[in-house]
Amino acid sequence: MIITDTHTHLYSEAFDDDRDLVINRAIEEGVTRFFIPAIDSTYTKSMLKLEKEYPNNIFLMMGLHPTHVKDNYEEELKHVEEMVSKRPFYAIGEIGIDLYWDKSTLNIQKKAFKRQIQLAKQYKLPIVIHCREAFDEIFEVLESEKGDDLYGIFHCFTGTLDQAHLAISYNMKLGIGGVATFKNGKIDRFLKQIDLNHIVLETDSPYLAPVPFRGKRNESSYIINVLKKLSEIYGVSQEHIAKITTENSKAIFKI
Ligand SMILES: [Zn+2]
Repeated sequence: MIITDTHTHLYSEAFDDDRDLVINRAIEEGVTRFFIPAIDSTYTKSMLKLEKEYPNNIFLMMGLHPTHVKDNYEEELKHVEEMVSKRPFYAIGEIGIDLYWDKSTLNIQKKAFKRQIQLAKQYKLPIVIHCREAFDEIFEVLESEKGDDLYGIFHCFTGTLDQAHLAISYNMKLGIGGVATFKNGKIDRFLKQIDLNHIVLETDSPYLAPVPFRGKRNESSYIINVLKKLSEIYGVSQEHIAKITTENSKAIFKI
């Protein structure tokens, strides 16, 4: 069984004491493919180091996270553009709009989101979207950028069934993780109505640990709990879910 974690911040300080153990625990469970979203330029060095240490398992994205779109965002976008021009990445991410932490930056968040979508198109790369309390704003941007060259993952999808269909209509897969196991997570109620072909697995570790680890540090091996939950929801084996979602991740990331 090959399981793909399409979203893990393995370079996070939260793993500084036991990163290799965390990675090896995951690999033992069959989680052998880790896709690493960027946040801002301060993490680039540690991302590159991870890739060097695990070249067969670690696949990097490049991008500026919406909560890190600040006064220096032009400089940060330059860094993203420079890195993408210099070496291969598997996606532009994570990018998007977050109105939970700071509404005052909405305008520059939108600008940064659009510019990075255009960058993704230029390099024929998928995008990985971060959306928090900003579905309308995100869909407005996607509507203005839609086309065959726009595709990717709606990471940590927490919307309604209608929003799920809308995201899929813009060529997005839904990133499903710990939230699917939460009592009040809501998406578990309608997930069965979404074809598995539109789903990829993720942890977003160190955040959003699934039940029974909710509230604790998350890690890629815990994705097994998401797999279990999806296997219950869809009434198919865990192996089947792992296979389909890994195939979906390959279709997106081209690896
Ligand atoms: Zn993330």
